[in-house]
Amino acid sequence: MTDPLAGVRAARLARDVAAGQLREQALHARGAGHSWDDIADALELTDTSDDSERCGQQLGELAWEWLIEHRPPAPGGRRGMPGSAVWVCTACRARVRDTGPYACHPDDRESGHASGCPRHRAALAAYRDELTDHDDDHDACDASDEAGDDPARGAALAPPIEDTTGHQKGTG
Ligand SMILES: [Zn+2]
Repeated sequence: MTDPLAGVRAARLARDVAAGQLREQALHARGAGHSWDDIADALELTDTSDDSERCGQQLGELAWEWLIEHRPPAPGGRRGMPGSAVWVCTACRARVRDTGPYACHPDDRESGHASGCPRHRAALAAYRDELTDHDDDHDACDASDEAGDDPARGAALAPPIEDTTGHQKGTG
């Protein structure tokens, strides 16, 4: 059985070689008199926003950022849109939608595992362990998890009641 991570490493190497070629060929085009705008054209970079201020000059900037500053354009030409990807879980054979390693709760990261999927169960168990092990550290996570399914957790995190009248503030 091959290690899928070895495949990731090999693909990354191929990507790096291709990126070097891209940069080298773009600099060759610059040497021959082409602008970064021309290079953006050749790369088929397109306007990525509805902002009318974004013009051809800035497409050239996108090409520069990509090839020289190593900041690739957003896939699909859409910035700021939440992305997702789909893969087949080897534990339950279901197609799972992956929204990236941002959310804290496993169900907010991956949806579609078959019920009873051992991998999904393990992820939920690990999540609960994490909550109990680092009880003081997970506030940042829970702040974005407003629809918590555990009422006790929500109560523990309820903000202290503040006196909004202002009478408690020192006046002199
Ligand atoms: Zn699964």
